[in-house]
Amino acid sequence: MVRDSSCQKHLDVVLEAAGFDLWENDLVDGSVIRPVSKVLVELGYSPEEFARTIDGLLSLIHPEDLDVLRQALDAHIKGDSENYHAEFRVRSKSGEWVWYANYGKLVDRTSTSLGRRLVGVSLNVSERKLREREIERLNARLVEQNAILQELATMDAMTGVANRRRLLELGESEFERARRLGHALALLILDIDDFKAVNDVWGHLNGDHVIRRVASICAQNVRVNVDVVGRLGGEEFAVVLPEVSEAPAMALAERLRAAIESEVVALDGGGAVTRTVSIGVASLTADCESFVSLLARADRGLYAAKQHGKNCVGKAEDR
Ligand code: GH3
Ligand code: MG
Ligand code: MG
Repeated sequence: MVRDSSCQKHLDVVLEAAGFDLWENDLVDGSVIRPVSKVLVELGYSPEEFARTIDGLLSLIHPEDLDVLRQALDAHIKGDSENYHAEFRVRSKSGEWVWYANYGKLVDRTSTSLGRRLVGVSLNVSERKLREREIERLNARLVEQNAILQELATMDAMTGVANRRRLLELGESEFERARRLGHALALLILDIDDFKAVNDVWGHLNGDHVIRRVASICAQNVRVNVDVVGRLGGEEFAVVLPEVSEAPAMALAERLRAAIESEVVALDGGGAVTRTVSIGVASLTADCESFVSLLARADRGLYAAKQHGKNCVGKAEDR
């Protein structure tokens, strides 16, 4: 007896030092044998409040956490888990939610009975949960910022269309896909006609306005999330058209040419300018070895269009 009470004292000291609150519940009649008095006091309740029945204690737990707690308890009762462990929020008297961890075990389980006395400890884990939440929040921001960085790294800053690297990457993968599946693939290269004169006469910034406008006319006239418009450099653009054969690619090129020809770009400092484009078209054929060779063919088409007097659409065979 003397030994028992000294053991109890030692146990109390250890529990106190570890920040644990010892409890014991009867799962059959739902009564509380030893209440979580320290937890209740910590939350602003008097030790007797909510302490008499398991249902009373459960009424303080966050509704979203009840399922987790019940599942952990059921798993232990069924013998699927060696111990009961659950983490949940408990409402304080002032209405705040405080995180606790519960660890417990059925102490009177025998080979013939499931047991009814669940003994365990509760531990305030708010700080750890706050840190975890903070890390989750920071991780989510990191993912978001990475996506923005990724976008910036693949985008042409001046026009918002794909940059040259991205265009070549996507073009190469569309080329592989078209080859594998036996699909069509077409490519347009556009070059603004007599663009140098825009810079020379109206200045570089107005030249930039014209480049941006041509990029947005291309982007507005292609299929969203299917076709890829990219800036190859300077005043030159390319459009990758998956599953498009030569005739519809020529028709799109003609539509783009006409749309750009009729576009009037307002100039900084007054006035307006119009520009035309020459367009080279290439479509995938059996002798095409890579996306780069398709690009070279479209480039020859562009050269042919320039040779024919600009403001028109050309193919490599037209040279
Ligand atoms: P062509 O009809 O044969 O295509 O003649 P062009 O004058 O358009 O061709 P050229 O290659 O001689 O001129 C392209 C010019 O584009 C030269 C360069 O200064 C200008 N350029 C390249 N990048 C930019 C840019 O980002 N902004 C501006 N404003 N000009 C640029
Ligand atoms: Mg050029
Ligand atoms: Mg040009």
